[in-house]
Order: sequence, then structure tokens, then C-alpha cells
Amino acid sequence: MISFIAGGGAAEIGASFYVLRLGDTFIGVDCGFRPTAANHDPWNVEKIMPNFDVCPKLDYLFLTHGHLDHVGAAPCLLERFKNLRIFTTEPTKFIALAQWHETLKIAERDKTPPPFSGDSVHSIASKIRVLEVNSEKNFGEFSVTAIPAGHILGAVSLLFNYKGKRIFFSGDISFQDQELIKGAKHDFQVDYLISEATYAGKSRRDRREERDRFLGDVRQIINNRGRVLIPSFSIGRAQEIFEMLRKSDIAGLAPIYIDGAARSMTDIHQVFLPHKINRHVNKHYVENVAHRLKIFEQKPCVVIASSGMLSGGASVGYARNWLGQEENAILFPGYIDPFSPGYAVLTTDHGDSVALTEKNRTIRAYIKRCRTDQYHLSAHADQSELLMMREMLNPQFTILVHGEPEDMEKMIAENALGSIFTPKNGEEIVLE
Ligand SMILES: [Zn+2]
Ligand SMILES: [Zn+2]
Repeated sequence: MISFIAGGGAAEIGASFYVLRLGDTFIGVDCGFRPTAANHDPWNVEKIMPNFDVCPKLDYLFLTHGHLDHVGAAPCLLERFKNLRIFTTEPTKFIALAQWHETLKIAERDKTPPPFSGDSVHSIASKIRVLEVNSEKNFGEFSVTAIPAGHILGAVSLLFNYKGKRIFFSGDISFQDQELIKGAKHDFQVDYLISEATYAGKSRRDRREERDRFLGDVRQIINNRGRVLIPSFSIGRAQEIFEMLRKSDIAGLAPIYIDGAARSMTDIHQVFLPHKINRHVNKHYVENVAHRLKIFEQKPCVVIASSGMLSGGASVGYARNWLGQEENAILFPGYIDPFSPGYAVLTTDHGDSVALTEKNRTIRAYIKRCRTDQYHLSAHADQSELLMMREMLNPQFTILVHGEPEDMEKMIAENALGSIFTPKNGEEIVLE
């Protein structure tokens, strides 16, 4: 028997937790938080977690990459299934560990109960085994090959082989080369495809054009002696944007700073990509609160700060300080959840007020006078690339996950796709 069920991340983006049943073996792929409530609404621990009850037991967990919506809840999963064997790539191991420590730090700072204990992080750290990419690892009943997925440092797709049947989890995947990470390439076929669908129903603008538009806008704000805040995911996006700016003329026009959790994640990138990220990158880090307060007043300047959706972290402080001045800009480099404060900031009209969370977690309204914009620099396949991947891999059935339900339905209808499922969380699909 081969079956698939999602405990989270099926008809949604977030809380990815997929269970593949191969006979009597239960295999988990990813185990993340739901990002809207993450960062980390302590009153909603239930809401941010995937549902672990979808499997009676779990033998293995494979992590595709280190984003919070894919690894955040893994320590809780280990608390539930003590004999779990856990595998991922070496960079993802480092990124995930940093994410879990950051989660504990935020909980401590906010004096709220953390979703898992420090002991759980310690025990998951000792259990993770490293997967080499592009090499088939045999587990007896089945084998798995981790295949680079583009997207972010360490990200892989997973190709399972069970009794001659090939089951492919794309994970978050990107086919275009980025500043630091090369795009994914496939030259094989599979029986079943579990595909991400973040950009189903959408065609992304050309990446190079978007990069030029982004750099042009940053340059314009700098030339007018304004400040630019780039709220960014701490992993991947922050380092790609930094590299993009560093290689451009903007580096000579204004200081570029990195703040928030993006700093320690940049350290990890520096370890794994030493030829791409200079070891002097830490000169760009905002050192402490006093340094940050100084930068609030500095102009022109560019700050790349996490979180990417202004739901917490260093970026919120810059947004609070810079939102009200015409010469400044808040430029979002990727996807923003429609329920996030970032989305509210982006969509509020000039002169209207928008709510942001204060340090003490009260909400205060700010008048928006700065410029805002969004750029499609996300590291995800767009619809045409998703269709290309499906054509190339030529599966018997496709399961779409990690997408908005309406977008996935639109993609299926517009392209008259057959043999394709869009399950809900908790809905089991028996493949064989
Ligand atoms: Zn991701
Ligand atoms: Zn994701």
C-alpha cells in the first residue's frame, strides 16, 4: 500500500506536514508552523501546529529545507514519536537548529510558554542524520534520494523508491538561478508527484526585470536621501537581497545593514557559501540596540531586516519609525500573507493609518506616508514552471500541496489537467 495524507500544508501555505505510507512504514516529510500566527502568537499554539493525529505512528522524518513553515514544529513531533529517525541536508540541519533556538528566544523574550522545550531541541539536534544530495540512501524497504531544489541554501526535493514505484516530493522548488543558489534541474520520470503550488494560477514576472525594477526603486529612494526598509525572511531572501545590493552600484551610494535573525542566518550562509558571501559580511550587521537607534535617524541607508511580513522581529521597529515620512520606502521582496501586518502596510493608502504591534504587544496606529511596493523575487516556481516540472516528471498522479485552494483550482481548470488531486488536510489518498 502507498498512501498520502497531510497533517498540515495541504490546501494552505504553512504548517507543512505530509505523511507517506509505504506498507507498514510511515514517513513524515517536513513539520512546520503556520506562519500567520507564528512569530509566535502564544495564545494560538494549537493554531500554528500541524495535526499529528493523521498517523498512528511515524518511523522517519525528512526535512526538505529550513523555512519555519517546514521545520518549526519538528521538535514537538519528536516529543510525540520518540523513536523517530530524522534526516536532512547539512545546511538545513544548521538552519533548523538556529530556527528552533530563535523560537525559544522569542518565547523567553515575550515571557510566553514556548511550543517545545530546550531539551527537545537538544534531543532533536542529536538525532538528525545528514543526507548527502544526489546519492540514493537505502533504508531496506525503501530508498530516498535528496535532489537540490533551488529555493534556499540546503533545500532539496525527495525522491522515494518503494518496490520500483517512484514518489517525488518537490518541496519548495525554484528553477531559476538566484544570486546564491542555482535552480533545480530534473532528468528523470516518476510515478507520483507531490508538488508545491505556491504560485499556481500565477505567472511571475521575469526575475531579471523584477530585480532591475527593485534596484531602480532602491536607487531612487537613496538618491532622494530616503531610507529603505526591506522586510525579509531571515533565511534565503535576506542573503539573496544583500548579494543583489552588494553587487550593484547601490553599495557605493548608501550603507547597507542586516538586522534581526537574518544576521545569524547570514553567518550560516557564509559557512556553506564562503566563495559567494564574503567573511566580512558581519561589518553590515546592526550590532545592538544603540546601533539600531542610530540607524533609525540615519539617511540615506538600506536595511534588510527580518521578519518578512512585519509580524515581529527587528523589521517592525524600522517600519514604526520610517512609515510616516514621505522620503522613505518599505519594499517587500516576496510573498506576503494577506493576514499579516506587512500586507496591511502594503495595501494601506497614503495618508491612512495602519496598525503595528508595539514592543509591549499593544497595537498602535501609524499614519502611512512612505512609499511601499512588492517585488516578485520569491524563490518558488511559477505556474508555467510547475506545469513544466509535471510534464518532465510525467507522473501517473499529481498531488498539489502548499498553495491557496482557489489558485490550485484555477491552474487545474485553465490547463484542463487530469489525474491531479488537491486534498484537504486529513484527507487520505491511497495511491496503490
Ligand atoms: Zn520555503
Ligand atoms: Zn514553504
